[in-house]
Amino acid sequence: MKLSDIKKEKGVKCCAYGCSNKPAEKLGGLCYKHYQRQRRILDPVGVRYSQFKINALKRGKVFEITLDEFRHWCKITGYCIVKGRRGKAATIDRRCNVHGYFIWNIQLMTLSRNASKGSGFSGDNFECPF
Ligand SMILES: [Zn+2]
Repeated sequence: MKLSDIKKEKGVKCCAYGCSNKPAEKLGGLCYKHYQRQRRILDPVGVRYSQFKINALKRGKVFEITLDEFRHWCKITGYCIVKGRRGKAATIDRRCNVHGYFIWNIQLMTLSRNASKGSGFSGDNFECPF
């Protein structure tokens, strides 16, 4: 029996190796930190989606993108791959600032492009249909 199994059985410590945090409830014997880490490996897009949604809602934006739409969008744009690469961080930008987060209103933007947006650059030539 591995140490991690013993720890798990006792239910007193997170089962990640060398972690002595308390396991969170219903997270399969992992503490919150290691649960998130595990999820990032198993479902990086799903995790990115939750963070994206929480951030949008925190900023009081309308958020009407489903997880399935987001998964598809990530595939087309390569968002999660781009973000994973060091130094090539990209953000999700709204094409039209009047509207919230809809699948037609988001575009991939690298941080450098986003930074230059203030000086007149607005991504692509998008005309809001509404
Ligand atoms: Zn842990």
